[in-house]
Amino acid sequence: MEAFEYIRAESLGAAVVSGSKSATAQQGASVRFVAGGTNLIDMMKLNVERPKVIVDINALPLDTIVPTPAGGLRIGALARNSDVAHHPAVQKDYAVLSQALLSGASPQLRNMATTGGNLLQRTRCVYFRDTAHGCNKREPGTGCSAIGGHNRMLAILGTSDSCIATNPSDQNVALTALEATVELRGPKGERSVPIHDFYLLPGTTPQRETVLEPGEIVTAVTLPPPVGASLYLKLRDRAAYEFALASAAIVMKLDGGRIRGVRVAMGGVGAKPWRSLEAEKELQGKAPDAATFRRAAEAALKDARPQSENGFKVELARRCLVRALTLSTRAA
Ligand code: SF4
Repeated sequence: MEAFEYIRAESLGAAVVSGSKSATAQQGASVRFVAGGTNLIDMMKLNVERPKVIVDINALPLDTIVPTPAGGLRIGALARNSDVAHHPAVQKDYAVLSQALLSGASPQLRNMATTGGNLLQRTRCVYFRDTAHGCNKREPGTGCSAIGGHNRMLAILGTSDSCIATNPSDQNVALTALEATVELRGPKGERSVPIHDFYLLPGTTPQRETVLEPGEIVTAVTLPPPVGASLYLKLRDRAAYEFALASAAIVMKLDGGRIRGVRVAMGGVGAKPWRSLEAEKELQGKAPDAATFRRAAEAALKDARPQSENGFKVELARRCLVRALTLSTRAA
């Protein structure tokens, strides 16, 4: 780990000023906000992250979970994953988020990890975490060692010739199905970004994963009012403490025996948390039966582009989606 300057922010304004001033003073040297540190500190130990300045935001009042005037829920960026997963309003109205959070990491990690940090979780691609190998995401222009290398865990949707990494988070798949909005504060003020627009596809610049600007900080995630039953299904190599090979987050309402207001997102297969509008189109207004679910799953994976080791994910993701939709029908 390399030496860095440590700043403890006592207010949101001070955090933004510290982040932006440090970014300017260090001529582009990296500045990182730290909360739970469950991902960032790991990356620093591996020398994958080498920030010159760390701004500790743990003292900021951003850990509340409160109803919104519109009937939704506002989750502060510093709300711990455990607190969100066990919050009564989340368990009652946004079960998909509670289930997704509880399917990730370990109790100890969930007690430390925050909503904002989980949003910005880095990929688990082995080459990204190993500085001995070329990796366009870690060091632009050095190539992608995973293409033609070990890529069993990596993405089949939304990839590019520069990067095929997955977004590893379970939380972010649930938030995508829930159509969450990410609240940001930065040197230019506040803004809200729909989660679908928050994440960027790798294209030719895989090092840029979100629309966050230098010095900008995530302050909260806002959920719209609940629209129906929801569910998260995760398939992985072992039953705990493992990342998804494929996962599905479903929000669904049944009305008169027909599917209404359905939203489908997938994890473990996309270069970002993957919303499938194609699957939703196949489901909307239809009867919830096996044939409809299979057509939706085919539509969701029609643009899949598997690599040398992860062709199995195409059918695995289809079956995951069919299973999740079947279970959702029982809950709706
Ligand atoms: Fe790096 Fe992305 Fe290639 Fe992995 S898949 S080696 S993160 S560029």
